[in-house]
Amino acid sequence: MSDLDKPSRAEDEYFAKQELERRKKWAQEQAGKMAAEEKERLKKTHYMKCPKCGMDLTTIEFQGIHIDKCPNCNGTWFDAGEVEQLLKPANAGLFGKVMSVFR
Ligand SMILES: [Zn+2]
Repeated sequence: MSDLDKPSRAEDEYFAKQELERRKKWAQEQAGKMAAEEKERLKKTHYMKCPKCGMDLTTIEFQGIHIDKCPNCNGTWFDAGEVEQLLKPANAGLFGKVMSVFR
């Protein structure tokens, strides 16, 4: 191979960098995929299970609020934003009503 056929040092570096980038991207994709699979596995294991005792939660709807209640230990869970909704001045007294219904 003559010097003319040899790829230049700059080209070598360019291709090595490109290869490294390709492998990094692949590794990140694998990590992302694993994280997604792990998230899915966790969701399957814990979804609608009481975080205190592990029993299946039951959902009760009251005035547009979905309350997840544990029939075993009586724990009560709200979805994101629901407590804030109940505590709005416009909903004064609603929180107490909800709690008395599900007591
Ligand atoms: Zn429970």
